[in-house]
Amino acid sequence: MATERLAEMFPTLDAAQIERLHAVGHERAIHAGELLFEQGEASVKFAVVLEGEIEVVHPYADGEHLITIHQPGEFTGEINMIAGMRSLVRGRARSPGRVLELDRAALRSVVAADAELGEILMRAFILRRTGLIQRGHGDVVLLGSRHSAGTVRVQEFLTRNYHPYITIDVDTDPAAQAVLDQFGVGIADVPVVICRGQRVLKNPSNAEVAECLGYTAELDAAKVHDVVVIGAGPAGLAAAVYGASEGLDVLVLESTAPGGQAGSSSKIENYLGFPTGISGQALAARAATQAERFGSDIAIARTATRLVCDRRPYRIEIGDTDSVLARAVVIATGARYRKPALESLPRFENNGVYYSATAIEARLCSNEDIIVVGGANSAGQAAVFLSHTARTVYILVRGKALAATMSRYLIRRIEDTRNIKLLVETEIVALDGRDALERVTWLHKPTGERVTRDIGHVFMMTGASPNTEWLRGCFALDDKGFVKAGSDLTAHDLAAWPLSRPPHLFETSMPGVFAVGDVRSTSVKRVASAVGEGSVCIQLVHKVLAE
Ligand SMILES: Cc1cc2nc3c(=O)[nH]c(=O)nc-3n(C[C@H](O)[C@H](O)[C@H](O)COP(=O)(O)OP(=O)(O)OC[C@H]3O[C@@H](n4cnc5c(N)ncnc54)[C@H](O)[C@@H]3O)c2cc1C
Repeated sequence: MATERLAEMFPTLDAAQIERLHAVGHERAIHAGELLFEQGEASVKFAVVLEGEIEVVHPYADGEHLITIHQPGEFTGEINMIAGMRSLVRGRARSPGRVLELDRAALRSVVAADAELGEILMRAFILRRTGLIQRGHGDVVLLGSRHSAGTVRVQEFLTRNYHPYITIDVDTDPAAQAVLDQFGVGIADVPVVICRGQRVLKNPSNAEVAECLGYTAELDAAKVHDVVVIGAGPAGLAAAVYGASEGLDVLVLESTAPGGQAGSSSKIENYLGFPTGISGQALAARAATQAERFGSDIAIARTATRLVCDRRPYRIEIGDTDSVLARAVVIATGARYRKPALESLPRFENNGVYYSATAIEARLCSNEDIIVVGGANSAGQAAVFLSHTARTVYILVRGKALAATMSRYLIRRIEDTRNIKLLVETEIVALDGRDALERVTWLHKPTGERVTRDIGHVFMMTGASPNTEWLRGCFALDDKGFVKAGSDLTAHDLAAWPLSRPPHLFETSMPGVFAVGDVRSTSVKRVASAVGEGSVCIQLVHKVLAE
């Protein structure tokens, strides 16, 4: 790592900056060898070294790997402190000394209110997490196989939550059997997730992994939040950033990982301010950290299953047992991929059929022939990205050409890429294989010609349907299931509207419930528009809260 990056990762605070932290912290003595925080510990305090030294290590089965030694003026922590998650590392006093400690609430108040300290701390925290990811210094070991759908799912869950982990491939790594024997699990149980070196989860759900890693925050069913945002895609994260930065008490519920569809994009090139593009995951990680910095709570692996809308405050049910209350609600649950009607499709999902094209999938199909299905921008981006590693990329589209559905810059890039081949008016009609996808048959509709190829990787980039089935009954939806809001609501939709004023922009047929981003009927399906709608609706939430 470049020296200047190290200086930003481990900066030294000056006397004036430490003095400002004193106002909200507590000084205490530390003793040589004292354990200050342990890997897996929740609610670890932020500490500035005043005297002495603190060593930060990563515990492995074979001993400790030193990460850094904090000198006077330096501070502990990374983004888990802002997010309120368990520590990934161990910290110990190397010598007697003194530290200034801040709990999470005090730390969050400092990073939100003190621009200079906020910038130094947040930059260091993000760089430290990136460093942990690059070195695999996490608290998770994933034993899996590239042929197992569950392995790809858990990898995606960890990667999209920006969580460092080590993968051991049971097909190729000779150490894998030894690890499986050590924990007494069979090869049939893959993927196996070893959490903090202690708990062994066999083929776990994402929610079980989240619970083990401490992602699943305790929710207070009695507390009434100013606003509960459902969905942490670009729209929901924007609502969280603007809401929390303007003093609202914001809780975000997210079923998978921050970033939504954008988080699965390999590179977003048309989002303002990123002239060379940004990966969806990097954008999501920054946005989530920004929301948490301002004080939003983001509850991961928490799926809203019902919005009880016959009384206020509104109650949002989460699974069978949990619920939260809200004075205002922002629905930002976006959309999910449309799937072709192929009987064998579920067998091959994440096992040859993918709905996103990130570095994980690109590695799986390097030097192989692959198919990208779809004619919109997401398909074009995936094809261009995958063409760097795949041998040949076939783009299959139902239409006669790409021009009507894809941006001109992507069409030009596809035309200029030697190993991308466009097949128009063509559809997949069969997927075959034993344990994983091995063969694909496509049909050229005008001629009726069927072609079968040995292809093991298909990327479905065929558009999306709204995530609104959980809104049963309460809301006016359009004929495709997207939530109607603002001026799209008809007199019929508003027959039960109880107020004398009309609905605000983005307000649904229920007062104080807003719909933003891709989930909203007639929305523009873009990152920038989702972010714009999420931020604008907060102005209207203020008005509703003042009513
Ligand atoms: C591969 C790909 C590439 C793309 N590239 C671009 C691009 O380059 N430029 C561009 O402008 N746009 C791009 N888009 C479109 C863009 O990503 C979307 O328009 C944008 O993400 C919409 O944001 P959103 O927040 O409205 O919804 P989403 O991104 O769909 O996020 C919704 C979130 O809600 C969560 N959720 C759903 N239901 C629930 C529930 N019941 N409880 C809790 N959480 C729930 C989901 O897990 C998800 O995280 C791309 C899309 C894809 C799929």
